[in-house]
Amino acid sequence: MIIGVPKEIKNNENRVSLTPAGAAEMIKYGHTVYVQHTAGMGSGFEDKEFEAAGATILPTIEEVYKIAEMIIKVKEPIESEYALIREGQLVYTYFHFASCEPLTHAMIKQKGVCLAYETVELDDRSLPLLVPMSEVAGRMSIQEGAKYLEKLFGGRGVLMGGVAGVPPAKVLVIGGGIVGTEAAKMAAGLGADVTIMDVNLKRLRYLDDVMPANVKTMMSNEYNIRHMVQSHDVIVGAVLIPGAVAPNLVTKDMLPTMQKGTVLVDVAIDQGGCIETTYPTTHDNPVFEIDGVIHYSVANMPGAVPRTSTLALTNATLPYAIKLANKGWKTACKEDPALKLGLNIVDGQVVYQGVSEAFDLPY
Ligand code: NAD
Repeated sequence: MIIGVPKEIKNNENRVSLTPAGAAEMIKYGHTVYVQHTAGMGSGFEDKEFEAAGATILPTIEEVYKIAEMIIKVKEPIESEYALIREGQLVYTYFHFASCEPLTHAMIKQKGVCLAYETVELDDRSLPLLVPMSEVAGRMSIQEGAKYLEKLFGGRGVLMGGVAGVPPAKVLVIGGGIVGTEAAKMAAGLGADVTIMDVNLKRLRYLDDVMPANVKTMMSNEYNIRHMVQSHDVIVGAVLIPGAVAPNLVTKDMLPTMQKGTVLVDVAIDQGGCIETTYPTTHDNPVFEIDGVIHYSVANMPGAVPRTSTLALTNATLPYAIKLANKGWKTACKEDPALKLGLNIVDGQVVYQGVSEAFDLPY
């Protein structure tokens, strides 16, 4: 199969969808790999490393889309890429359709085969291609929370771990999945006083068993959230309802009840956000303030640490990419139910329930 690796063009997105090691692996199976000039630069991979692995470098994004049967990307295609996608072309990337109606309509129109990383789902309901980026974003959320808690950045001026005789920061993590667990671990490691909330009692029991003593668990419901946000310094939004828009759990009317300089980190922003007042921001301008509360809501947090993120992501995406290339998407999806669940739009038709429900589209 002919594989194309375009350079990511979303703001400050420095990841690349295939490493030179991944290209070598593809080529070993008999596939041809075309990589756009400087696609790997942001992650520290030079064109010559791809060439040494057997890939061919193409100067422009148009050439990559034109020649490839399968496009491997990191982030969803942005507007200038929509028209480059051809009928029947397989596009394997994060799409997050439920939070972007124009992208959904564009992909329906282009009639490509859209296989979304975020909805590939194993039998145990885990999402293997979201996990690595969730691990990165979860760990980063605390780094960012700690930074914006500093007075200089508009925060309360509280040190995460406190010091002897001074209590540590209070961190509330809403959602106890991958992001939430990594966030709680990092915050706990810094010495913060952490509470993690979820609606899944089984998950709370597990977290209660494995987390250190400075992490407490609590059932997530409106009453508890309303009470907890009043006393916490950093609040991390980390919920997910697969393939659907995130619910607004921290609402606008709660902001005036919070302490001035509280930092909200809405990691779920790529699914619409679980904090009502957040909107997607970029690494260039990551925060804004409402009612004295700092909002951090960067939609591609792992993009800030591209070297780590690229290696973590491709460790997870490559085995599926190889299956898709070796067998073609139809057979690969027939044989692997997890991969089949990644199909969101095929030949102009929405084939994923969450996307159809988000925009009332036929399914
Ligand atoms: P996950 O499925 O592992 O965990 C989600 C958790 O949310 C589950 O434990 C679920 O029970 C819980 N949940 C659902 N409804 C809830 C509610 N009402 N209250 C509390 N908890 C609730 O998902 P994840 O991998 O941890 O991802 C979390 C979010 O982070 C997703 O929206 C994902 O897309 C996003 N994400 C964003 C970035 C970024 O750069 N901004 C990067 C990675 C992941």
